[in-house]
Amino acid sequence: MSDEKFIGTPRKATTHTSQNEGLIFEKSSPGKKAYRLSELDVPAVDASTLLGKSVRKEYGALPELSEIEIVRHFTRLSTWNYAIDLGMFPLGSCTMKYNGRVNEAVARFEGIAEAHPYQPESLSQGALGIMHDLSQYLIEITGMDAITLQPAAGAHGEFTGILMIRAYHESKGNARKKILIPDSAHGTNPATAAVVGYQVQNLKSNAEGMVDLAELEKLVDEDTAALMLTNPSTIGVFESEIHKIADILHAKGALLYMDGANMNALVGKTRPGDFGADVMHLNLHKTFSTPHGGGGPGSGPVACKAILEPFLPTPIVVRKADKSLGFDYDRPLSVGRVRMFYGNFGMFVRALAYTLANGPDGLRLTTEDAVLNANYIRAKLEGYFDLPFKTPSMHEVVFSDKLQAKNGVKTGDMGKRLIDYGFHAYTVSFPMIVSGAMMIEPTESESREELDLLIDALQQIAREAAENPELVKTAPHTTRIRRLNETAAARNPVLRWKAPPSSISLTPDSAAKEW
Ligand SMILES: *Cc1c(COP(=O)(O)O)cnc(C)c1O
Repeated sequence: MSDEKFIGTPRKATTHTSQNEGLIFEKSSPGKKAYRLSELDVPAVDASTLLGKSVRKEYGALPELSEIEIVRHFTRLSTWNYAIDLGMFPLGSCTMKYNGRVNEAVARFEGIAEAHPYQPESLSQGALGIMHDLSQYLIEITGMDAITLQPAAGAHGEFTGILMIRAYHESKGNARKKILIPDSAHGTNPATAAVVGYQVQNLKSNAEGMVDLAELEKLVDEDTAALMLTNPSTIGVFESEIHKIADILHAKGALLYMDGANMNALVGKTRPGDFGADVMHLNLHKTFSTPHGGGGPGSGPVACKAILEPFLPTPIVVRKADKSLGFDYDRPLSVGRVRMFYGNFGMFVRALAYTLANGPDGLRLTTEDAVLNANYIRAKLEGYFDLPFKTPSMHEVVFSDKLQAKNGVKTGDMGKRLIDYGFHAYTVSFPMIVSGAMMIEPTESESREELDLLIDALQQIAREAAENPELVKTAPHTTRIRRLNETAAARNPVLRWKAPPSSISLTPDSAAKEW
């Protein structure tokens, strides 16, 4: 790479041919096919004699290509991606850990991958066993009493958990009115509370970035349904007075919802059920290594204490009197179903494979390594970047762009600059209690070598911000596409292809029309 693009030399990235690729529609020409069928050896039957009017005659404009063109199209596109299999994703709060290949191998076993959700229970004992075992392990890890695997993501788990809290209070005669949420919370928390019909009351953090107990005491009253708390918080700090927080809530009949997205800092070390949480979600696509970000789908199981068990979504997996496993649908107090079938089953298989492959010692070591890696980065970057909270870090560390902002360089500029060095950006401008936040979460997946490459890149970027701020402010310089206008992309998104009138397509008439 030419020197004028860098103050130092990036050790990780270099230039590499990246092939241009048009839209698949633009490559289409009539009559091309990616298959060849043998001659028909039975009488031809028109589809409409079998299906009547339900046969669709208008397909719109579909691309026509040969097999190799299709394969190359998607292969070329895939080479433009940044992926966890290519390098580190230091995205704070996201726990972008490696998706172990053992998970994928197990999920592809025929009996598992091809199982149908409507197979009778007697033929689904293996699948039910996977759900049952995973449930038991997650209950053990969280210190809770019961669980549902249905929710499809963390935010969906929050929604389910808050619905359960609402049902619980209603069963006592009063749903209550408000939910307390710290100012450091993930945006999904207030959104969840509002969607379930609660008012959101903001709880200010103290100087250490933790819940202010005096402030909490003032705000909790008989109208408070719950506090939604992330622990460790979004600045990577463990709420050391969490048991007192729980006591303050419980004394007023309110509940503690724990956002468990950051469980990668706790698994095998401490259990939310033991420190007072009543209900929580887990993100299997974070802590339990199932694919995340374009790879999904997600999974957000919700674990709870016995007092909330009657309100869990229906059905739940139970062991019946004859010792076989089955679904229990007879749950009169349940909040109902939150997802079709039983949730994203393929993710249960992967999360169980991850849990079993690691075992208790492995899971504990994972937690320790994740925390160690974050603190290694913190120690190496302190001084280069402002560290707004000095409280010990757990699995992630939050810096700010304060030192660089003096030269007009913002967190977003440095995040984009990191792309030039061969990394995905860290989390930019979140949490909101830190102005110009740069949030970094390495996870346990990264080796010392990869961490050093990231540290090296960020130290160089700090140098560049001081010596040549324009270089950072106009980054990225080495990507296929330079800096995009993000406002225009958000306000005026173009999300579908429209055939230009001249385009060649299977049905020229319909292509010219809107479809
Ligand atoms: C990721 C995250 C969520 C939301 O999880 P999704 O699976 O993305 O819906 C909620 N809270 C925190 C703290 C998170 O990091």
